[in-house]
Amino acid sequence: MAYKLEEKLSKVLYIDLTEQKYEITDRPDLFDKYLGGAGVAAKLLEEECPKGMDPLGPDNPIILAVGPLTTLYPCMSKTVAMFKSPLTGNLGESHTGGRSALAIRLAGYGAIVIKGAADKPIYLSIFNDKVEFKDASVLWGMRTTYSVGRVLREVEPGSGRRTIMRIGLAGERLVRFSNVAVETFRHFGRQGLGAVMGSKRLKALVIGGTGEIAIAKLKDYIKAYKELYDLVTKTPAMMKYRDYGTAVNVLALNTIGALPTRNLQATKFEYAENICGEKLAETLLSRRLACSHCPIGCIHIAEVKVKFAPFHAYETLLVPYDYEPIYAMGSMLGIGDAIGMLRLLERAEALGLDAMSAGVAMAWATEAFERGIITANETNGLTLRWGDVDTYIKFLDNLVEMVNDFYRALAMGTEHAASVYGGLDFALTFGGNEMPGYHVGPTTIVGFIVGARHSHLDNAGYSVDEKALKKPMNLEERVDRIVAEEQWRCVLSSLVACFFARGVYTPDKVVKLLEIHGYSVTEDDLKKLGKEIHLMKYRFKLREGFSLERIRIPKRVFETPTPHGTLKEEDLRWMIRRFYEKAGILELATSS
Ligand code: SF4
Repeated sequence: MAYKLEEKLSKVLYIDLTEQKYEITDRPDLFDKYLGGAGVAAKLLEEECPKGMDPLGPDNPIILAVGPLTTLYPCMSKTVAMFKSPLTGNLGESHTGGRSALAIRLAGYGAIVIKGAADKPIYLSIFNDKVEFKDASVLWGMRTTYSVGRVLREVEPGSGRRTIMRIGLAGERLVRFSNVAVETFRHFGRQGLGAVMGSKRLKALVIGGTGEIAIAKLKDYIKAYKELYDLVTKTPAMMKYRDYGTAVNVLALNTIGALPTRNLQATKFEYAENICGEKLAETLLSRRLACSHCPIGCIHIAEVKVKFAPFHAYETLLVPYDYEPIYAMGSMLGIGDAIGMLRLLERAEALGLDAMSAGVAMAWATEAFERGIITANETNGLTLRWGDVDTYIKFLDNLVEMVNDFYRALAMGTEHAASVYGGLDFALTFGGNEMPGYHVGPTTIVGFIVGARHSHLDNAGYSVDEKALKKPMNLEERVDRIVAEEQWRCVLSSLVACFFARGVYTPDKVVKLLEIHGYSVTEDDLKKLGKEIHLMKYRFKLREGFSLERIRIPKRVFETPTPHGTLKEEDLRWMIRRFYEKAGILELATSS
């Protein structure tokens, strides 16, 4: 039965796993000031996460938040998760799509805060204003995240308006780059939210609702909606994502010499054409899917037939692919065979590992093995060789099983393992997070380092370097651009828009849309808000020990040339300092 929801967000659902109780609190103060998403989540993290908290301790909160335009407009389809990251030790932020945002909004919430830890495996079933704590003993230890989803689909209500988020074996065993699978093909991928859920013995969340949102200015809404819909579907703004998806970047980056290959020993991959988006679309693409309320459908699913077992027939694997997993499980590991790359990716998916971090970790291990820094003693008998898919699959199993000290160390992240065994110079992590798939120029690397969550999505430094290849830009101008971009993305992620629609949701449009739904803001207000949210994230990072002085830049980034030439450490250090000055972070650090 439908129940009526207010047009403006205000409700926060607080859940205590230890006591198995919950309460719903009206917090218009939060949503009026920070809109929703990243802004509200950052404030709740500040309120709920005690200083110095063990990221895998019960008091590390998991905060999920949606935005004021969620479900109302195309591509306003994302949910933000914030937590203290067990991988980086400070700000954990990850975004997902699927049906997550729609389900949380229609259940009646702007945000959900989960604290505590259960004494045995459970899953949460949240339906409208009711929360149930259910036994997950039979789901704990299940071999794949797919099976967990299948069971929950059968036993939980609300199909179509429901999200199912669950962890795999990696999350249960506290691998610090384990992910959370959302529906079947989306994720909270980065920074170890899976391990945080595992530490709480929280196997899954099922959220659904029957809410209906009453729109006061209905005529204005319909007019604005049509305009947005046309922009998304009838202009080139999002075309790239519809056709080949982000996988189209493989050839583009390879052509300019920016595709990290074999642990960034090179930036051109001789087999790029075998694993590029165009080739996958031609040969293995099975279907495309969309997050709720998105007319683009950028989620590309490949169909791969593999031999089920000796003397048995074949089974069909359905594997979602995007640029980043292709780079991490393809060129970075020297894998130039599409089916092999997809088999490895499927194994990471099934185990509940972030494919990007797992790929970079294996790339570091392969180079360390080649150099004799680690041997078969550490790898549990495996001989690591570039491109050897079957060995990499066994490696992932060993990693999640944590069969010895080496795998236990690597399960804490590439940076940790390299600091124990050696090879930090070629351990490709920034702020403790494994690198994304770009080596375009100085702004790319600086962007990874200064980004609040050390993600290419924080400020898109790589995109600035790509533009600078066409129209030269000095270093200062590049820094100015990533400061402005990161602050604006703090607004977009408070709405919570899919970043692929960033060209559509320009500041003037966002002001008009918010006005329709009862928010009175100017473009200037939004810019100030973006800056404030960005500083709030950094306040948390600094509070939890992130140091502006102790920034490590792996030597490898200076050894392998980019399309902008060989990078110079003094340029990067200058840009980093300039970013911190311009964004107000230097001042924040000295005053705190
Ligand atoms: S463009 Fe892709 S990721 Fe973005 S909302 Fe649509 S389907 Fe989801």
